[in-house]
Order: sequence, then structure tokens, then C-alpha cells
Amino acid sequence: TWSGMRAQMRRAGKRPGQRPGPRAGGGAYYDYLVVGAGFAGSVMAERLASQSGKRVLVIDRRPHIGGNAYDFYNEDGLLVHQYGPHIFHTNSPKVVEYLSGFTRWRPYEHRVLARVDGMLLPMPINLTTMSAVFGRALGPDEARALLASLAVPVADVKTSQDMLLSTVGTELYRKFFHGYTRKQWGLDPSQLDKSVAARVPTRLSTDDRYFTDDFQCMPLHGYTRMFEALLAHPNITVATGTAFADIRDDIGYGHLIYSGPVDEFFGYRCGRLPYRSLAFRHETLPQQQFQPVGVVNYPSPDVAYTRVTEYKHLTGQKHARTAITYEYPSAVGDPYYPVPRPENDAIFRQYRRLADATPDVTFVGRLATYRYYNMDQVVAQALSTYERLARLHGHAPAD
Ligand code: FAD
Ligand code: UDP
Repeated sequence: TWSGMRAQMRRAGKRPGQRPGPRAGGGAYYDYLVVGAGFAGSVMAERLASQSGKRVLVIDRRPHIGGNAYDFYNEDGLLVHQYGPHIFHTNSPKVVEYLSGFTRWRPYEHRVLARVDGMLLPMPINLTTMSAVFGRALGPDEARALLASLAVPVADVKTSQDMLLSTVGTELYRKFFHGYTRKQWGLDPSQLDKSVAARVPTRLSTDDRYFTDDFQCMPLHGYTRMFEALLAHPNITVATGTAFADIRDDIGYGHLIYSGPVDEFFGYRCGRLPYRSLAFRHETLPQQQFQPVGVVNYPSPDVAYTRVTEYKHLTGQKHARTAITYEYPSAVGDPYYPVPRPENDAIFRQYRRLADATPDVTFVGRLATYRYYNMDQVVAQALSTYERLARLHGHAPAD
């Protein structure tokens, strides 16, 4: 089944089963080459190294590990997320147990306020939000009745606009979602799958947490430290600042794990898959606190950014200064978000057919499987992808 490995070995002058050694021409041999040092690639590498005893090379074209979860201490010593706020939350005990092997945790419940009509109001919309917008104290029953009267009936809820109009009605949709979504995606909510808006529920309570998952914590010493621990196994070699195209012909390897954009891997032969990008403006301010919560959202079309993050709320750092990040959505730049809508799914299905017909390569992660996944979902996907691969390659770990 390892046709790719055999082909590589033939090129490297080896027979299957032969103990891998250095390649003729100076290149090295690895059982697995992992492209991408984010959650998907790092979890795959860790499992293959520690559970299957495989030699693994992990590369990333960025100058660091961690993928989009990478964090670093800026020149003032404040911990900053280079690619915007990453808040860990999950309902999966398996994912918590796994990552707890590589980090300790700091409890953190994320809260978000939205700047609307000159006020800072809880997001997701809850009783406090609705009471402020409609100018009267609303209990759960009154709020439910009010939403029912405001909701615009939609027979077949397909898009984010359908979803929002049919649950909160026109006014709340306009104030909280319409402008934000147009900025974030460069699309109208009517052009996006309902799953995008479904990420943010409406609450008939005063619970003002952004997430309600059982487990809500940040890695105690940050994400990058956790990735260092994931990749510390002696069977793992890490090469950052290294793109796949630069080394693919110089490295011998048995099997490829790819966590980059799937359309790029196949040379865009079925067309471009849109990935939404962001530009980040990081600032340090000479004050202890900038805003009352970790993230403030700006749905108004009057400002170009969507949200501002103040990291001290997330990290618990004590410092005389504070670090913040503005997010400006962009069509160009690094790929961050797959864009959930039917025409993109149709393109992705073509790439998935190509991927299925390429058994020498395993595609995993948010970019390679074109899924709007949170970190915990990528970890869960990588763990099950590893288990499947280990069985297929005959080195499944004992249960
Ligand atoms: P990535 O982290 O994108 O890693 C892929 C890596 O592959 C990249 O480092 C890239 O450089 C590398 N690569 C690609 N192609 C090549 C190549 N050809 N050669 C070499 N290297 C290559 N999730 C949460 O759970 N909570 C949050 O609060 C949260 N906030 C987010 C905020 C923002 C702004 C963004 C963009 C995402 C957020 N996420 C959040 C999602 C989270 O970032 C992803 O789920 C996770 O990082 C995906 O991991 P991955 O390994 O699949 O991809
Ligand atoms: N959203 C919105 N207004 C908000 C927050 C979210 O319209 O104040 C919509 C928007 O389309 C956004 C989506 O809900 O892209 C998902 O929000 P989430 O906070 O989950 O986005 P992420 O953290 O993944 O960028």
C-alpha cells in the first residue's frame, strides 16, 4: 500500500523494509514528511513519533511553529497572538486529555462586547443586550415573545441571512450582524452558509460568555510553548522557513501529511478555493487597560476593522502597558478562513476527489480539508486521522 514510499525509496536507491539512512546526494530520509507546523501537522507528527516510533520531518514556510495559533512576547514583554485572538474551548474530553500532556492550563471564560449605538453590549445577544436595544428590562418570556414577533419567517433556512432574520428579525440583524459579516467576509450574509451565523447563538438568559463549552482554558505559558512540547520528541525534526516546493525533491520520505491549502497542492487545477485573509495591526499602549473585556466587536461599516483584542484579559498578564490588535479583513494575504458557501463546496468536492485518488498523501487541517474548524476540532480531526493512518500503515498503537 505504500506505493509512494516505494517510489521514493526507488529514487533513493532503497528497498522497502530497508532501514532508512541518509540519501545519496546529501538529502535525508524520513518515514513521514509533515507540511505545516500548526495544530494539524504538529499533532500528526507527535502521534507518529511517540506512538508509532516513526521518524518525522515537520516543515513550515513561516519562520515559526504553531500555525495561526502562534504567540510571542513583544518588545515590552507582553504575550501577543500574531494572527489574532485564539481562545481555547472544547466539549471533547479526549482533546483536553491529549493536549494536557503538553501544557498546563489557565481557566479563562471569554467575553465579547459589541459597539452598537454608542453602547458596549454583550455578544452573543442575550437579555442584557436586548433590554438595552429595546429600552426596557426584558425577562426570558418577554424576550422570547418579542423575538417571535420580530422574526421574519423563512421557509427553508439556507444562508446566514435566513438564519438571522428568522431568529432575531431585521433590527438586531442590521445592528449586530450585517455590517460585521460584510466586512469579515466581503460577502453579504445572504451569500454565506447558515453555519457561519450559527456559530453565534442568541440567549434568553444573562449568560454573557462567548462560549458555553465544558472546558474553557488558555495554555498556561501560551500556545507556542505548547507546540514546542508537542514537537520535542527526539524522532521529530522541525524545519521552519521551509516551503514544501523548496525541499520536495531533496528529501526522501515514505508518506506525506499535508496541512496547507488543498488547491495550492494540486496547482489550482480545479480553480482557486477562496480563503479569507486578515491584516493585523498590533499596538502597545502606555496604559494598564484599554477595554473592559478581551474582545470588542465593531459591526459598524464606519470603521474598517471588525474587532479589537486586548490580550491581558486572555493571558492574565500583569503589566504597566497593554497590547491590542485590530483586525482588518482582506481578500489578499495568508489564507485564514475557508469561506462556507455552496459554490466553494462544489470546488472543494473536486479537490477532495483528487485527494482521495492520491493515497500517498494525507490531507488534514483547516486549509487542506476546507473546514471552518476551531482548534479543538482540528486536534480531534488530526487524532482520528492518525489512528486511521496507523491502522492502514500497519503500525496501529495497542489500545
Ligand atoms: P494552520 O494553523 O493554518 O497551519 C497550517 C500551516 O501550514 C501554516 O503555518 C502554514 O504556514 C503551513 N503551510 C501551508 N502550506 C505550506 C507549504 N506549502 N509549505 C510549508 N508550510 C506550509 N480557533 C479556536 O478554537 N478558537 C479561537 O479563538 C480561534 N480564533 C481564531 C482567530 C483567527 C483570526 C483565525 C484565523 C483562526 C482562529 N481559530 C480559532 C482557528 C484556528 O486558528 C485553527 O483552527 C487552527 O489554527 C488550524 O490549524 P491547522 O494546523 O489546520 O492550520
Ligand atoms: N458575527 C457577526 N457579528 C458579531 C460576531 C460574529 O456578524 O459581532 C458573525 C460574522 O459573520 C462572523 C461569524 O458570525 O464571521 C462567526 O463569528 P466568530 O466570532 O465565531 O468568528 P471567528 O472568531 O471565527 O472569526
